[in-house]
Amino acid sequence: MKNLPSPEAFCQYLWHEYLENQNYTILGDCFVPETTVIGTGEHEVSRNLEQFVNKISAEIDARTTAFIIEDQWFQSQWISADSVLVIGELRVREQTGNPLEFIGRFRFTILLHAMNNEWRVLHVHQSVPDPEQGADEFFPHRLMEQSNRQLKQLVEEKTRALEESYRQMEYNARHDSLTQLLNRRWVETQITVAMQEGDPGVMIMLDIDWFKQINDTFGHPLGDQVLETLGQAIQTVFPQALSGRIGGDEFILYLKEEQAGSSALQTTAIEKEAEQLQRVWEELRRQKGLTFPVSASLGAARFPQQGGRFDQLWLHADQALYQAKAAGRGCLRFCGEREERD
Ligand code: GH3
Ligand code: MG
Repeated sequence: MKNLPSPEAFCQYLWHEYLENQNYTILGDCFVPETTVIGTGEHEVSRNLEQFVNKISAEIDARTTAFIIEDQWFQSQWISADSVLVIGELRVREQTGNPLEFIGRFRFTILLHAMNNEWRVLHVHQSVPDPEQGADEFFPHRLMEQSNRQLKQLVEEKTRALEESYRQMEYNARHDSLTQLLNRRWVETQITVAMQEGDPGVMIMLDIDWFKQINDTFGHPLGDQVLETLGQAIQTVFPQALSGRIGGDEFILYLKEEQAGSSALQTTAIEKEAEQLQRVWEELRRQKGLTFPVSASLGAARFPQQGGRFDQLWLHADQALYQAKAAGRGCLRFCGEREERD
């Protein structure tokens, strides 16, 4: 032991050779086959020297620059007559000349054993201090809080995205994709609920006149635009109504007294709105360059007088629609009011 350098001096020599001189022969000279090494990376556990050499060989091959040790400290503690533990810290800078060169700090524990009057390294453990950990913290709470915040944010984002896609799915399941009005199933459900509330209401069935001919003459894509503009016109003129497309060129509306007010359910008021609908629809078509004439026929039936259930009311509104078609199309007929008009 007499001629051995101090444990601190030996460790300083090891780091100097390894980092500054890139002398890797010290691994063969100063380590033993049983030497264990734990590095900072998750994978950096070497259960013997062979594993360690394998792990770092790629890094050694790739390393083009050496390090400069800018600061260091060592402290030893004997644990038996020939074994000593050295702890310490190094501040290193990569020697690249690049102003953004890497500067790092790491700590180590090295277990040395004196064998045949030479130091042998039995174990090396490296760690990198956590710069986020406050001086008053034993655990890096701030890091945990930060990661919890990020996790919470992530969960919130995912929840929002899920809710949005659920809303989208629900919307798609309830709406007609062409006109954005309610689809048949949902409008029937909604009208049934409204009727169950018991307030007076008016159901209007609407069917485009000679729509087949429009498709045959101008093509289905233009026919689709006619349907689309009608959906927009219905929403503009009857914003309070439950309105849906029940198939093909047929639409249904339900006006509730509760929302529209009782005077809005009067025949003359609805007739005016039906005329306004034709005008608004025409204007919307004109904006799209659809200048050919198109009209719709409408049939209306009153709740509860002309049907207490959805299917009964529909039947009567449909009969009124048939009367409007028979009367020359492009007009509104109320169920049971035919005599007054004829
Ligand atoms: P009427 O005045 O008696 O109602 O005559 P019409 O030609 O409108 O007759 P009907 O209502 O039976 O015709 C409906 C047409 O609607 C037939 C079909 O080609 C067309 N149609 C149904 N769905 C769509 C659609 O999604 N897009 C287009 N462009 N046309 C459709
Ligand atoms: Mg039609």
